[in-house]
Amino acid sequence: MALDRLWIDPAKILIAGTWRDAEGGGRLPLENPSTGDGIGEIAAGTAADIDAAVAAARGALSGDWGRMTATERGRVLTRLGQLVLERVDDLAQIEATDVGKPLKQARADAVALARYCEFYGGAADKVMGETIPYLDGYTVYTLREPHGVTGHIVPWNYPMQIIGRSVGAALAMGNACVLKPAEEACLTALAFASLAEEAGLPPGALNVVPGLGEEAGAALAGHPGINHVSFTGSVGVGSLVQAAAAKNVVPVTLELGGKSPQVVFADADLDAALPFLVNAGIQNAGQTCSASSRILVERSRLDEVTSAMAARYRALTVGPATADLDVGPLISARQKEIVEGFLARSDDLETAATGSLAGNAPEGGHYVCPHLLANVPPDHSLARDEIFGPVQVIIPFDTEEEAIAIANGTDYGLVASVWSESGARQMRLAKALRAGQVFINNYGAGGGVELPFGGTGKSGHGREKGFEALYGFSSLKTVAARHG
Ligand code: NAD
Repeated sequence: MALDRLWIDPAKILIAGTWRDAEGGGRLPLENPSTGDGIGEIAAGTAADIDAAVAAARGALSGDWGRMTATERGRVLTRLGQLVLERVDDLAQIEATDVGKPLKQARADAVALARYCEFYGGAADKVMGETIPYLDGYTVYTLREPHGVTGHIVPWNYPMQIIGRSVGAALAMGNACVLKPAEEACLTALAFASLAEEAGLPPGALNVVPGLGEEAGAALAGHPGINHVSFTGSVGVGSLVQAAAAKNVVPVTLELGGKSPQVVFADADLDAALPFLVNAGIQNAGQTCSASSRILVERSRLDEVTSAMAARYRALTVGPATADLDVGPLISARQKEIVEGFLARSDDLETAATGSLAGNAPEGGHYVCPHLLANVPPDHSLARDEIFGPVQVIIPFDTEEEAIAIANGTDYGLVASVWSESGARQMRLAKALRAGQVFINNYGAGGGVELPFGGTGKSGHGREKGFEALYGFSSLKTVAARHG
C-alpha cells in the first residue's frame, strides 16, 4: 500500500504557513504496520523548530487570526469540516497505511474529524459569559478568553479524532496551535493542516512539527511561550509533560490510559450486550485508550457470557488494513513485543478463545491474534495493567458491592459501562463507578463528539470533547464595573 493518496510532502513541517524541512534536515523513517515495509520519511522536528512554531503562533494571535471574530473562526472550521468530508476516502487510505487500522475504522475516524470541525465551527460563537448579581452600583460579568498559544501532543492510535477534538476546540476559542503528532503516525496531521490552509485558516494559527517525543515533544511541553498543553498518550510521558509545563505554571489537559470495565449483571440483555462486549476490546486492535479490556460478569451467567464471547472471538480475523478485516496489525514491532510480553505472563490463565490470522497477512506485519482470557483474578497483572492490544479478561463477581470494588480497583478511571435491566442498579452504578464516562446498556455511545471525555486517577485530568473542551481551552475573566 503506497502513499499515493497523500497530496503533500510527508517530510515537511508547517510553520507560519510555510512547508519546509526540519532545522538541520533530519528525517525519520515511516513504516506500514501491515507489512513492516518502509514507506517514506517524515521530518525530525527539533527544539529550534518548536521555537519557530511557537513564535509563528504568537504572531498569528496578533495578526489576522487574532482579529477574527468568533463567527469568522466558526466559518473557517465549518469549511474545514466540509473539506475533510470531501477527502474522507483519501484520509482513510492514508491513515490505514500509516496506522494499520482496517479501512472502515480509518474512515470512521476521518468522518469523526469532520464532525469535530462542524461541531466546534458551530459552537465557536456560542460560548458565553455570565452576568453576576453583585453589590448595588456594580455590574459584574465574565469573559471567556483564549489561553493564547496552545501545544497539542498527540499519540498514534487515533490521530484524526484526537486532533479534531483538541485542535478543533482550541481554534474555535481563538487560540493559535502548535501540534506535535506522533512519530509513528503523523500523515493525517499534515494533511489536515493543508486542508485548514485551504479553508482559510491564517498562517501561523496551526503549526505542525512532527518529530521524536523526547526532542520535539519535550521542547513543546516545556516551552516558556506555550500557555496551555493538551497531551494525549501514556501515563509515564503524561507526568513528564505535566512536570515540564509546571515549570512555566501552565495548565495541562492529560488524556491518558485506561483499563475500562463493562459490568454484566445477571439480568442483562446478553444479545444486546455481546457485540459491545467484544468490539470495545478489539477495535483498533485494542490500541484504544477507552478500550474495554475487562469484562466483569455475575457468576450465575459466567459460563454463558464466556462461551458467547468465545464464539465471537473464534470468528475474528486479523490481517492487513487494506483487507478491512475485524482487526489490523499493531502499530509497531515494539508494541507487538509489549503485548506478547503480557500474553507470555498469562500461562496461569484460561484462554477461552483466540481469533485467527488471515492467510494472506504479510509476514512483516505486526499481528497479534485477539485473546479472550477467562476466570481471571482481579489482582492479576493482565486484569490491572493497560495492555494496549487485542486482549480482554473476563472476571467473575458475586455481588454488586464486589463488582463495584473490582471495577474501581485499578489505577485508572476513564470509561465504564453497566449492563442491567434494573433502573435502580443502573443509577447506583453510574454514581459508584470511578470513571469520566459511564455508559448504561451500551459502550461508547457511538463516540459522540458532543460528550465530554476524560479521566480520573491515572487516566488523567481535564475534559475534551463537547462544550467542556471550549471551557478547557479558555480562561475566565471577571469584570466588575462600579458605576454608582
Ligand atoms: P506516548 O506517551 O509514548 O506518546 C504520545 C505522544 O507523546 C507522542 O506524540 C510522543 O512523540 C510524545 N512524547 C513522547 N515522549 C515525550 C516527552 N518526553 N515529552 C513530550 N512528548 C513526548 O503514548 P503512545 O504510546 O503514543 O500512546 C499510547 C498511550 O496513549 C496509551 O497509554 C493510551 O491509553 C493513551 N491514549 C489516551 C487517550 C485518551 O484520550 N485518554 C487517547 C489515545 C491514547
